[in-house]
Amino acid sequence: MEKKNLDWSNIGFSYVQTDKRYVSNFKNGAWDEGTLTDDANVVLNECAGVLQYAQTVFEGMKAYTTEKGQTVIFRPDLNAERMVQSAKRLEMPVFPEERFVDAVVQTVKANEAYVPPYGTGATLYIRPYMFGTNPVIGVKPADEYQFRVFGTPVGPYFKGGAKPITIKVSDFDRAAPHGTGHIKAGLNYAMSMHAIVTAHEEGFAENMYLDAATRTNVEETGGANFLFVTKDGKLVTPKSNSILPSITRRSLVYVAKEYLGMDVEERVVPFEEVKEFAECGLCGTAAVVSPVGKIVDHGKEICFPSGMDEMGPVTKKLYDTLTGIQMGRIEAPKGWIKVVE
Ligand SMILES: *Cc1c(COP(=O)(O)O)cnc(C)c1O
Repeated sequence: MEKKNLDWSNIGFSYVQTDKRYVSNFKNGAWDEGTLTDDANVVLNECAGVLQYAQTVFEGMKAYTTEKGQTVIFRPDLNAERMVQSAKRLEMPVFPEERFVDAVVQTVKANEAYVPPYGTGATLYIRPYMFGTNPVIGVKPADEYQFRVFGTPVGPYFKGGAKPITIKVSDFDRAAPHGTGHIKAGLNYAMSMHAIVTAHEEGFAENMYLDAATRTNVEETGGANFLFVTKDGKLVTPKSNSILPSITRRSLVYVAKEYLGMDVEERVVPFEEVKEFAECGLCGTAAVVSPVGKIVDHGKEICFPSGMDEMGPVTKKLYDTLTGIQMGRIEAPKGWIKVVE
């Protein structure tokens, strides 16, 4: 496979149009057979459900070139399953899970020239999404939907190594109890824009959101779950019905238990306890793990012993093991790696 002539190590994280994308339409209660298309544009009626009432959900995952030169996708079945949950919560039709995985594989295969070569640190980011397309003016779910998948090559998240970031405890809430925090929907991001722009203006990389009801427990950031490491080497990760069930977090929990023999606690994490931890990181598909060096709570600083120069040692071990599995350097648990043939 002849790769595109791109500067893989310097492409950054922005949209690069690739050759093919997958599209399927839902009408009269059924999905059509779906197809790959060259057309990167979506033309919609001015009153489309997605434009008026934000009826849209999405997913995100990555395809890689392994050490042996295979093109692989990391756990797309879990993204398929999660999109089912997201769609149901917004009263959208379900795109069948096997078809989701097939659509992702087709899209990656058709754009294999854009899957970055092994060793560049770059990957092909894959974005499946679905939205209401027919005119809706009275508030109700749309009757017609479009499901699409495109891929875009993205550069290494950390150029020159992962430097710990400083984050703040936000004064805004991300998700209400019994709301939509647990689904992957654009609506959760629209309302986070003001909070993240505000944090950036104040010099912080991210927001730590606390639970909206009591503002005492750690939830997540705008787009990543938290991991903490205790002073005696346990992995602790917040449990809540209003955080997004990160596939990276679930994979890291497995890696911690089964590959590194660590104790793992998935439980409510009071913010009060955070100052006791040795390491802190954020996890999600984009960066896998971003180390957090400092959390600022209204002027009060929590500085983790791992410091501001590099990832904490346990976080690093987790990161190296999971990325080793993804890149084919370490044997993967059964079913984690979908090979594109
Ligand atoms: C996508 C997302 C994550 C990370 O999930 P992964 O499956 O690991 O990519 C975490 N939090 C939110 C709010 C998200 O939307």
